Amino acid sequence: MIAFLNGDYRPLESVCISPLDRGFMFGDGVYEVIPSYRGVLFEVDAHLDRLRRSLAAIRIADPLTGDAWRKMLERLLSLNPGADRAIYLQVTRGVAARDHAFPQTPSATVFAMVNPIRPPAPELAGRGVGAITLPDQRWGRCDIKTVTLLPNVLARQQAAEQGAVEAILLRQGKVTEGAASNVFVVRDGHVLTPPLSDAILPGITRRVLIDVLRGTRWPCDEQPVSEDELRGADEIWLTSSTKELLPVTSLDGKAVGDGHPGEAWHEALAAYQRVKPAGPSA
Ligand code: PLP
Repeated sequence: MIAFLNGDYRPLESVCISPLDRGFMFGDGVYEVIPSYRGVLFEVDAHLDRLRRSLAAIRIADPLTGDAWRKMLERLLSLNPGADRAIYLQVTRGVAARDHAFPQTPSATVFAMVNPIRPPAPELAGRGVGAITLPDQRWGRCDIKTVTLLPNVLARQQAAEQGAVEAILLRQGKVTEGAASNVFVVRDGHVLTPPLSDAILPGITRRVLIDVLRGTRWPCDEQPVSEDELRGADEIWLTSSTKELLPVTSLDGKAVGDGHPGEAWHEALAAYQRVKPAGPSA
């Protein structure tokens, strides 16, 4: 696999980053995961906008122009041909003597690599997945897509150890999001998702789904979702760029609704699939 580091394209195995990189030392950086379907990037402008927002929030100057970002992403895809891919890209505050405060003359490290998208097997999505609930122990700026992911890592590991695919996080009696996904619930025919705030990542899949649901029988309201509403939901869905739209059929070991992916999920997934790129000639 060919990766990108600071202007060079080279095999991933030969990419070296200094241990003094502030991403390694402090988790001082941000990232994006951008899906591509049959060689066509999906929602690339939205991902680059969010990257710019994350960089500005942690005060790293954007190292590339919009055009240069897009060219780099396209080149990386062409060097790693294949079907459905996700580009992982990371920008850190760069290499400097270890000191918490910013270096005088920071020089960002820009790294990107390509991974296959492994959406859940159709039978798994068709059956639904398990999730657990956990207290949200993260910081107050979860709207920034920072590489500092330790609480998310621990939550996801706890889910995995309990045979679940995701941990749904609760703060002050309300759902925030999953460890690496946004959360939607369906109750009494209404689709709800927590509103944007500094407690959740503004997921691109979340936004695309809200848009496509407008054209269906299941328009979505962005409003707070209480723990009781989550536990009493007829359906629960998780969204992310690599999971797309996944039905949760068991929560903390109890069936969600009738324990099967629901009618709304089937329609929402079909609507989502229609807006994904069909390929270069689409
Ligand atoms: N929330 C968190 C904490 C995430 O890490 C992610 C994706 O990794 C999401 C939500 C979903 O975001 P997106 O749909 O942009 O992939």
